[in-house]
Amino acid sequence: MAVDEAGFPVTRSAAGVVRSAAGARTLSVLDARISGCYACPRLVAWREEVARVKRASFRDWDYWGRPVPGLGPDDSRIAVVGLAPAAHGGNRTGRVFTGDRSGDSIFAALWRAGLANQPTSTHVGDGLELTDVRVAAAVRCAPPANAPTPEERDTCNPWLARELALLPRLRVVVVLGGFGWTALWPVLAAAGYALPRPRPAFGHGVEVELAGPRGPLTLLGSYHVSQQNTFTGKLTEPMLDAVLSRAKELAQATT
Ligand code: SF4
Repeated sequence: MAVDEAGFPVTRSAAGVVRSAAGARTLSVLDARISGCYACPRLVAWREEVARVKRASFRDWDYWGRPVPGLGPDDSRIAVVGLAPAAHGGNRTGRVFTGDRSGDSIFAALWRAGLANQPTSTHVGDGLELTDVRVAAAVRCAPPANAPTPEERDTCNPWLARELALLPRLRVVVVLGGFGWTALWPVLAAAGYALPRPRPAFGHGVEVELAGPRGPLTLLGSYHVSQQNTFTGKLTEPMLDAVLSRAKELAQATT
């Protein structure tokens, strides 16, 4: 594969995403391939524009300005799937959910749940380590107005499908928000899971158990950790803690 100026293997089309994702044999290979993806012209233009212009308070940062790969070990039994990186969050730091209020909420909750070694995630190299949980997004590039199009969502889906397939012990997926909930169903169908019809509606605390090729998998819905939800009290710390506690309970029940 051709590589870009940073040395990441380049993917330039939806068909290329399908091929490149399917051919990734490890999470580290997948992460590098995601980082070199240019398949969505609108999102590529936006992520690079944001990285060039910057927010004044981050003017000394060398923005990542690329797709943001997932974080967490490949023996994880729990996955947490969000929407997409924030323009001055993950698109700045290069780490999923890192650098904005949403990340502050989720990483503090992972720490309270015993799934992270520290309550904060500020930048790559800050010492954060996750245990038994992989954190990822349904769309890997920061979208304008936090709103990817359905086409962009579908183009990006194979990266998530491959990421979940590369977690052989996966037992629980915590889905943050209705967008991730919608994005996940075709991913799971492609992975061979039997999906209920009609599709269960998204809601906080909704729990759906699926039978699949690698055994059962439970989806847990949670309101997204967006600032809008946490500031208004729609999503409180106890609500998020309860979802992660349930995820741990389900994960531990399989060992
Ligand atoms: S959103 Fe996904 S598919 Fe589109 S350019 Fe970014 S990484 Fe590639």
